[in-house]
Amino acid sequence: MTAAPDPTTETASRADERAGALLTIDLDAIAENYARLGARLASGAQCAGVVKADGYGCGAIPVAKRLFAAGCRVFFVARADEGFALKPHLPDAEVCVLDGLLPGLVDDYAAAGIVPVLNDPGQVEAWTAYCAANEVAPPVVVHVDTGMNRLGLAMADAEALAEDGDALRAFSDVLVMSHLVVSEEPEHPLNARQLADFQHLRARFPKAKASLANSSGIFLGPDYHFDLVRPGHALYGGNPTPGQPNPMRHAVQLLARVIAVREVDKAGTVGYGATARIGAGGRIATIAVGYADGYLRSLSNRGEAWIGPHRVPLIGRVSMDLVTLDVSSVPPEDCQVGDFAELIGAHSGVDDVAERAGTNGYEILTSLGHRYHRAYLGEAA
Ligand SMILES: *Cc1c(COP(=O)(O)O)cnc(C)c1O
Repeated sequence: MTAAPDPTTETASRADERAGALLTIDLDAIAENYARLGARLASGAQCAGVVKADGYGCGAIPVAKRLFAAGCRVFFVARADEGFALKPHLPDAEVCVLDGLLPGLVDDYAAAGIVPVLNDPGQVEAWTAYCAANEVAPPVVVHVDTGMNRLGLAMADAEALAEDGDALRAFSDVLVMSHLVVSEEPEHPLNARQLADFQHLRARFPKAKASLANSSGIFLGPDYHFDLVRPGHALYGGNPTPGQPNPMRHAVQLLARVIAVREVDKAGTVGYGATARIGAGGRIATIAVGYADGYLRSLSNRGEAWIGPHRVPLIGRVSMDLVTLDVSSVPPEDCQVGDFAELIGAHSGVDDVAERAGTNGYEILTSLGHRYHRAYLGEAA
């Protein structure tokens, strides 16, 4: 048999015969998630797309192009390099670099048409000076720290900037942004405190647009939406409302091929470190995935997979290239060499895998390895 129900079967049929493990990114699902988030927004608010860390491991360029086709016009990346790589593919979009305007890169940013996210007064000054000297008025983002203590102007510096009514005159379009600290915990008092500080800030920059919410921030309600929201994780199918049903569509599927099936004729242990025992009569399927692919080692003896309709536990340690599954309960004809086991997908989303691994869905996504054969569904032209 060829693994699982739809979409597994469809995907498996697309697999290159040589693929040990196959990562399928459903760009239409990502576009649908973009539309679902957009439908929740307060009137007038726009939805950006956060595609840092190679689009959360899903491929920044195909993801961003698909989002652009879905109407997204503002994108955020972390590194300058990510911005320079993306911008040529999206000449008509704003590509904003969260790391900011790093020294020596002013001319490069300007030449490429990249929007720096200004993170301190020195960056504001440098970009203002460049724009004045060259008589250009590009859009700009100013990041103000309301509680993360990580990036962005201190509140006092932002106040000083507001005091000098002319300070941001050089720019055509100013977006003032801040970032939420605990948005996935709606009851946490820090949310309301950051909102109040941000509302105050916004009043100090009456001509600027404003942006506060990440994925989970969107679900804190319309007060948090302002002019632009900046979801990342939820676009890729991550649950922005932990502890509640996931309102997003799964966009990532990881299948690994069964490359060996072993009948255990004598009780013993499985894998490195002899961390798991198996009795005589058991059966082990070895699949072509490992921690070198970003399948986290902390899933040792804790992960699970699906072979067709059968849920099977991971047994033993995750090694560099291989993972072992206890398939003793699966009828032998349902688990044969060449079949695929589903590790991430409709049965087990990125957040479920994360919980088993003791991490968050973000780390699962951004660890997705480059040894996987990648397939994209719904690619934009
Ligand atoms: C990563 C990031 C986001 C997106 O956050 P998600 O929780 O993935 O939606 C938004 N804004 C900033 C400043 C970020 O660094």
